[in-house]
Amino acid sequence: MAPKKLTFFETVMSFVDKAAKFTSYPQALIDQIKYCNSIYQFKFPVKHPDNTLEIVQAFRVEHSHHKMPVKGGIRYSEMVSEDEVKALAALMSYKCAIVDVPFGGAKGGVRIEPRKYTVDQLERVTRRYTAELVKKNFIGPGVDVPAPDYGTSAREMAWIADTYNALNPNQIDSIACVTGKPIAQGGVHGRTEATGRGVYFGIHRALSYADDMKKLKLTRGIEGKTVVVQGLGNVGYHAAKFLQEAGAVIVALAEYDGAIYDPRGLDVDAVQDHRVETGSIKNFPGAKNFAGTTDALEYKCDILVPAALEGQITSKNAPNIKAKIIGEAANGPITAPAEEILLQKGVMIIPDAFLNAGGVTVSYFEWLKNLSHVRFGRMSKRYEEASHQNLLAAFEKVTGKKLPAEMKDSLTHGADEIDLVNSGLEETMYNAYDEVRAIMKSHKGMQDLRTAAFVSAIDKIAVSYMQLGIFP
Ligand code: NAD
Repeated sequence: MAPKKLTFFETVMSFVDKAAKFTSYPQALIDQIKYCNSIYQFKFPVKHPDNTLEIVQAFRVEHSHHKMPVKGGIRYSEMVSEDEVKALAALMSYKCAIVDVPFGGAKGGVRIEPRKYTVDQLERVTRRYTAELVKKNFIGPGVDVPAPDYGTSAREMAWIADTYNALNPNQIDSIACVTGKPIAQGGVHGRTEATGRGVYFGIHRALSYADDMKKLKLTRGIEGKTVVVQGLGNVGYHAAKFLQEAGAVIVALAEYDGAIYDPRGLDVDAVQDHRVETGSIKNFPGAKNFAGTTDALEYKCDILVPAALEGQITSKNAPNIKAKIIGEAANGPITAPAEEILLQKGVMIIPDAFLNAGGVTVSYFEWLKNLSHVRFGRMSKRYEEASHQNLLAAFEKVTGKKLPAEMKDSLTHGADEIDLVNSGLEETMYNAYDEVRAIMKSHKGMQDLRTAAFVSAIDKIAVSYMQLGIFP
């Protein structure tokens, strides 16, 4: 009999079970960590332009309350299901723990294909969804803080903030009820590209260890590595762009309607412009077209970055994957049976729970900014610049030499919000990677980064639960 196909949530739980074997926590505690604490599913009507009504299904799942608020994106997709939202909520708890962001995990979803709705309808769906969350206390700066995910963006986050604010007048911190907002609505610089930038930092760190690369028969560093990216949305586009800027050769890009391939390397921005102009990445000058998106996953490359949706690499196509490193930019792109096949082939998998945590990390920075009601760098930038200038003036006086103006400018530059956000993100991703790698190296018999990442998460969540004790 063929083994039972695991659902997405069961897959995430199987990762926890695999990692839990390397810990000594009681099974009850592991179960408390594994299952979702609150599941809210509801339906509401949407009016179409011809006045007909459609009932849409929506969810918000809070996976773990060991830290408050809980946090996680909202997905608009026809494929949204309770199982998917539970899996994504659980991944958020582990993700936050791995990168030391002090939140529990949550996720939301509305089962609609956003491309089929007008902007006005999407606004009404978003506002109604928010109002339903308010009614049940599933949103608030100290309770549950959504963010963008697949199918949503800063635009929806602004509508959520406005709706929450309208229903909670005079709440001074209400703007912190959601992150990923436009800058003018309390967003933080660098949030839009944060997940893709975090993917880049994570891959960069992984490739910096010469001994790990030697095992994969690769040289250190990103320069010259061939890369395939599936999904040219927010995460995929930015990850591809930062990898390309660091010297990687983007040999293929895949979208839902097909893929393009050019062994000389594709210019990510030029492909994006072509997509905006023509509505598709296909027929990009100089590149070869492929009909299927999943074909691209099997192209020869050093690094494969699935950045679209879950369940893309299965036991069917895993044997054909030629990449030596898979950077999981999307959530859950590899099924559990596929993972076993890939690990046996010696593929290095940089797991989603670590690799795409850049978004929630910068969301955390946005939340902090909203609670402090001041832009990062506002109080310190000019002061820093003045102290650096004084230091340089003293240096020039003592040495009797003048520094070139360009060098002086770069040495005296005080940190802006974007500088601080990017530096905080880099620090977070590097630290977390080093921690996960050290766990993998220190446990006999542990061979993969995912298990190590889950051990890191279980340890931190378990300690939190144990210190909180049992109420009453
Ligand atoms: P998005 O909606 O901006 O982009 C997704 C892209 O994938 C779109 O361009 C879409 O056309 C494409 N796509 C859809 N189906 C595809 C298929 N079968 N093959 C190839 N391409 C396909 O979404 P996003 O925010 O970039 O999210 C992508 C993934 O990253 C999701 O798994 C999401 O959960 C995860 N993620 C996102 C964030 C974030 O900050 N946005 C953070 C963490 C994880």
